[in-house]
Order: sequence, then structure tokens, then C-alpha cells
Amino acid sequence: MARIVLKFGGTSVGDTDRIKNVARRVKKEVDAGNEVAVVLSAMSGVTNQLVEFCRQIAAPHDQDAREYDAVVATGEQVTIGLLAMALQELGVPARSWMGWQVPIRSDGVHGKARIESIDTTEMVARMKAGQVAVVAGFQGIGPDNRVTTLGRGGSDTSAVALAAAMGADRCDIYTDVDGVYTTDPRIVAKARKLDKITYEEMLELASLGAKVLQTRSVEMAMKHRVRVQVLSSFVDAPGTLVCDEDEIVEKELVSGIAYSRDEAKITLVKVADRPGVAAAIFGPLAEAAVNVDMIVQNVSEDGKSTDLTFTVTKGDLDRAVKVLEARKEQLGFERLLPDSNVVKVSVIGVGMRSHAGIAQRMFQTLAEKSINIQVISTSEIKISVLIAEEYTELALRSLHSAYGLDAA
Ligand code: ADP
Ligand code: ASP
Ligand code: MG
Repeated sequence: MARIVLKFGGTSVGDTDRIKNVARRVKKEVDAGNEVAVVLSAMSGVTNQLVEFCRQIAAPHDQDAREYDAVVATGEQVTIGLLAMALQELGVPARSWMGWQVPIRSDGVHGKARIESIDTTEMVARMKAGQVAVVAGFQGIGPDNRVTTLGRGGSDTSAVALAAAMGADRCDIYTDVDGVYTTDPRIVAKARKLDKITYEEMLELASLGAKVLQTRSVEMAMKHRVRVQVLSSFVDAPGTLVCDEDEIVEKELVSGIAYSRDEAKITLVKVADRPGVAAAIFGPLAEAAVNVDMIVQNVSEDGKSTDLTFTVTKGDLDRAVKVLEARKEQLGFERLLPDSNVVKVSVIGVGMRSHAGIAQRMFQTLAEKSINIQVISTSEIKISVLIAEEYTELALRSLHSAYGLDAA
């Protein structure tokens, strides 16, 4: 007998037939003698619709974030009630739990709150007595007792956090693909399913754009050593295990390629080349809560001015431009060039620590396809480049082949 957490994403609970299908899967685990908690997303498309309703009332930066959360958290209430009911129809005792009922306590950063603690005492007692806990993903309760949400894709984090809090033996993430692939299988048909991936690589893949798992869920799994498995709710096949490096016998140099379209580039032309300028630019951006990612500064030719390029998320672009334009005189730049037609493509692999030439292969491959690299950034186990958005698919496919990742 084991204690397990099963999480089903939006497509898996997309309509009532699919919810009945989920109920049958859950029942199998119950029949096998396991204590089961289930974490659900809203039906696919519902959260987007709720976000759109909010936008129709107020522009995103004018919205009361607490009310935004009150609205967008509702999708999950529907699916948990329906699944609890579907389980009861199959003769399986079950009840639904909203975040505040558990309670799942978070900080007060509405829209992207972090889980701080989960009290599972009552839930575990009921699970031990044979009742399935059906928990709303994506939501918590803040310090002021208001409903919070955990950021888009946050149900993954709810599931891993719950698994950690109740000391579950495994956390299975059921989704619309049957595992973690070498790259997004919807874009590269030759993408290959990985049997296992390290926490570290999964963390990079997720934070660089592979939305199969929310980044925070991987951080949480790594910290609490939760055994996470990603698998399909539609086909019965083994999925991908996210685990420690020493559990993986055959290590690949490059394990995956990720991309993120949520990038925008800003170039400041002819910024004064003197001490304090970078601080004067990035300070006000940080105060305006603009997250800056890649940064390049050219060597100045005349010793007086230089060009500075950096990236922000698409949603932050307008705000960043406003902040900088307002300080044009003070910063002394000549022009500001915004560009949201960019994508960040990243190659990830723990093998990079010990092997040279991996970056060169990326640059060579893109050069052969005449794809211009606009910005480069690297860390110990990844290389990212910024390129024009129209080359996303071409870049992903060619890099996938160049690193020998194509499925046979
Ligand atoms: P869910 O609603 O179940 O949470 P998501 O849409 O959030 O599902 O995540 C699953 C999607 O992630 C897949 O449909 C796939 O297109 C995308 N994806 C991106 N990169 C990868 C990858 N490397 N491996 C698997 N899926 C990926
Ligand atoms: N329903 C939420 C979203 O669409 C949370 C999730 O699906 O993980 O972002
Ligand atoms: Mg998701």
C-alpha cells in the first residue's frame, strides 16, 4: 500500500466524459489499496476565459489582484466537485477540497503566490479511512484570508507541494503527452520521450519554456525529493521519471531543447559608457517589477557611448519602455528600439559541464540555416540564444537533429 498524489491537467478534465475517465483511473489506484489524493486543474480553456473576463473589466495593471484571483481560481472548483461526484458514482468515497479548506497557505503575492505550508492532518485521516481527497490545484489562501493563485500552470506545484506535505510515495502528473520529451513534441515530430530526467535538467527545461511542468513544481520536487512522474491520461504507457542524477545510468550530453515565445527585446542605442549607467537603467525597471533576463552590452567604440540590449517578458514590454522613455534625458541614450518578434531557444544538458563544443554546435547549426543570433546567454548546463520568432520551428528541428536527439 502506498500514499500517492495524482494530478490531472486541463485537457484531462476537459469535459464530463474525461472526468469520468479520470474517476476510473483513480478507482484503479484505490482498488490496489492505495491512499489517494487527486489534484485537478480547471477544464482546458476555462482559466484563459476567466483571465479574459477580467481583462474586459480592467487592463491587467489596473486590476485588483485579489479580485483577479477570486475570479480565476473558480475553474478548479467546478472540476473537483464533478470528480468527487463521479467517484461516488463508481462507489468510491470521495470529497472535494478547496485550497482554503485544506488549508494550503501561501504568501500574499496575488497572481503568483508561493505555497508556504499545507496542513494535511484532516485530509490524511480521511484518506486513511478510505476517502479520496480531490483537491483544487492552482489556489491557496493568503495571510489576510483571501484566495490566492499560484501562477499559470500552478496545479503542478499544488500537486508536488501536497505530495511533499503528506510524505507521499509518488506524485504522478497526468497530462496530454505521455512524458517529458527532448523538445515540445507538438513542434518537432521527431522529439523523443525520455525515460528519466534529472531534477536539475527538468528545472532548466521548465524555466526556459517547456510548460509540461511549472518551474516551481520542479523546484519543490527537487527540494523535498518527491518522485515525480509525467504520464498520459489517455494512453496506458510508462511516462518520464524526474529523479536524481545518480539514478540515471545512460547520461546524454544534451537532454533537451526548450523555447519561449514570451520574450521581448529592448535595445538602447548610444547609452553613455560610464560607471553607474547599468544601475540607473535596471534599478527603475526592478522597482517597476519588470523582470530582466538576458543582457548584452557592447564594447564602446569611442569610449563615450555603447549599445545595450536586454530582454523582458512580452507582458512587461510596454511598462519597461514607459519607465525608460521617462528617464531618457537622465540616462542619455539616443534611441530605444523595442522588438517583440523574438523567441529564446535553449539547449540543456548536464553533459555541458564536462564537454566542450556544445555551444559551437548550436551556433554552427543556426548559421547553416542563416538564422541570426541576436543575444546569447549561458549557464553551467544551458545555452540560450535569442532569434527572430519566425525561425522557431526551423531552429528547433535543426538543433534537435544536430544534437542527435531525433527519434529513430
Ligand atoms: P496540462 O494542462 O496537463 O497541465 P500543459 O499544456 O500545461 O498540460 O503541458 C503539456 C504540454 O507541454 C504538452 O501538450 C506539450 O505541447 C508541452 N511541452 C512543451 N515542451 C515539452 C516537452 N519537452 N515535453 C513534453 N511536453 C512539452
Ligand atoms: N488552471 C490553471 C491554468 O490554466 C492552473 C493549471 O492548469 O495548472 O493556469
Ligand atoms: Mg500545465
